[in-house]
Parts: sequence; C-alpha cells; structure tokens
Amino acid sequence: MVKLAEILNPTEDAIGQVVDALLLGEVVALPTETVYGLAGIISNDTPLEKIFEVKERPLFDPLIVHVLDFPSLRDLVDIDSTLLDKVWRLADIFCPGPLTFVLRKKKIISHIISAGKKTVAIRIPAHPVFREVLRRSGPLAAPSANPFGYVSPTCAEHVQASIGDKIPYILDGGPCEVGVESTILDLSRKHFTVLRPGAITAEMIENVLGEKIEPYHSFITTDFSAPGMLKQHYSPQTKLRLFKQSVKEISESISQNIAIIYVSRKEAQLQSNKLEKEKNIFWFSEDGDLSEIAHNMFALLQRLDKINFDMICSQVPEKVGIGIAINDRLGRAAAKRKDMGR
Ligand code: AMP
Ligand code: MG
Repeated sequence: MVKLAEILNPTEDAIGQVVDALLLGEVVALPTETVYGLAGIISNDTPLEKIFEVKERPLFDPLIVHVLDFPSLRDLVDIDSTLLDKVWRLADIFCPGPLTFVLRKKKIISHIISAGKKTVAIRIPAHPVFREVLRRSGPLAAPSANPFGYVSPTCAEHVQASIGDKIPYILDGGPCEVGVESTILDLSRKHFTVLRPGAITAEMIENVLGEKIEPYHSFITTDFSAPGMLKQHYSPQTKLRLFKQSVKEISESISQNIAIIYVSRKEAQLQSNKLEKEKNIFWFSEDGDLSEIAHNMFALLQRLDKINFDMICSQVPEKVGIGIAINDRLGRAAAKRKDMGR
C-alpha cells in the first residue's frame, strides 16, 4: 500500500521532527500565509532536485528562497548599498509578508534554485509555523506544494490529495490567510517591475519608494522574465470558463452539468431566485470582498474539480488591488492547454 504523508499539528515535537527531516535532505510541506509550500534546505542540491521531481516542475522554472529576516536576505544577494536601502524600506513595511524580491544573487545560491539565472527570488514569510521552522533550519527553497500547473494548495488536505504519496510530512497550519501567491517584484532591472501580481500591488510599492514601478503586464509571460508565469497554470482538470457580468455571455453554458461561481452570494442572488435549491451555484465570498475572494478561490476550485461537472464557469471580480492577482490566476487557470508552452 502507498504510504501517505503524515499530517502533523504544529506542536514543538512535530516541528522538531520536520526540521530533522529537512536537515537530512528531505522535502516537506509547510504552511505559509499565501499557499502551502514544498520546502527543502538550500545548502544541498539533493532536496532541491527532489522538489522539481515531486512537483514534476520543469527545470527552467526557478524557486523562491524563504528566509527569516532582512539580514538573512542580505547574506544571499550581491547588490549595492543604494538598492539594499530600497529593499530595506520595502521590507520594513511589507515583510514578513507576501512580497518576493528578485535580486542579483551571490554564488552560494545553487543554479538549481535560480534555473541558471544571475538573480534569485527571496521572500520573508509571515506564517508563524513556517517562521519557527526557518529559525531552526536556515533558508528554505519552497514553491507551492502541488503538481506543476495545477491549482495551488491552501490547506493541508489539498497537499495530501495531490502529492501526499511523495513526501513524508505536511505541517498543518490551517487554511492560508491570503490564498494567492506572493507578489514578485524584480529589482534587478533598470525599471523595477512586478512580474507576478499578489496582495501587495505596484501602487503600494510605489508609495513606499516614491518611484515608478512597472505594473504587471501579461506580455512578460512570453519573454521568460518570470519563467514560471506560463499562460496556462493553476488549472483544474475540469474545463474553466470566465464571465464578467452574466453567465449568459458564455453560450456553451446551456448544458445542465455546469458549476457556476459568482464572486459573491449577493451576485448569485441577483441571477437566481431559488438559490437555496440550486446544487450548481457557488460563490467565492459573501459580499464580494476581494481579500475574501482570494482567500477562498483555490479551495473552491479544488472542491469543484472533485465533483463531476462538465465545466466550471466563474465570474471575475474587478481588477483593483488584490483583484488584479485574482484575475491573473483565474485567467491562467482558464487558458487552453495548448497554450501551456511545454
Ligand atoms: P512559486 O512556484 O509560487 O514558488 O513561484 C516561483 C516563481 O517565481 C517562478 O515561477 C518565477 O516566475 C519566479 N521567479 C523565481 N526566481 C526568479 C528569478 N530569479 N527571476 C525571475 N522570476 C523568478
Ligand atoms: Mg506554484
């Protein structure tokens, strides 16, 4: 029988057990405030290779390194004092939190982490369980703990269901608070650029630095600046279609066996007068709050993917604040498989 990962409550003993495994070169799943991560120590190539193997992730897609604090970040990058000061100002406001910096790397960063690039992506996570592990293990590389291209995991059970047969432990830190991956900010180019939108927006970063930040543009995905940002990603097995105002925009949705997701219960009520009886109507949030939509989005997609719907139709929220990241993830999840680039 296949042995599945143990889901551990984050007690003192369990954290000790997980850290021992990490230090021996194992990879384990850990909770972060964004999504669950598949972590390995960065001082040894074996766990780094295992991360790619478990996820079936292409080697051109670099990993994000997670560190405990600003001094640990500084130790891994090769940048001048002016840029370091800017990173410090941003870290002072947004870290620990869902903001990843892309910076010129020091040689100690394995080429496996950076996928052969001269830069490394680093973040200081906020989840107390992840931080306790980091305090004892040192820096950890950690992409999302799911098979490459599939919907990201926002609770321990999602990890168990997808890669539970390939790893020894999952530390259970409850559902992820933010629910979408970190903002990736590239500070290695002349014009600072958001490579992946997240909870921290270009505008929020501009307000701290007082200089122009190139907002996220989807065209970046084709020039491989953020190699993981393929057009098709985060996808359920079930076909996904998106709509703005009314599901009638999607002509195929006439068939019966379709799940329809509205951004809020209120929106769902506007469209259906017998909501309580409908078995195929769902919503991301009660009243359309964007943070709540982000928090619930991947979990609802994972849940509906297990039911045998022929298609999922999802409404998209407005593109402001974290709504930009939500639109980005839903857009990629709905992209056609032929656009996968692999
Ligand atoms: P995740 O799989 O959520 O951990 O995100 C990792 C993503 O970070 C990758 O797919 C890239 O898009 C981005 N990334 C990591 N390292 C770099 C780097 N050195 N330069 C640009 N983007 C990076
Ligand atoms: Mg990922």
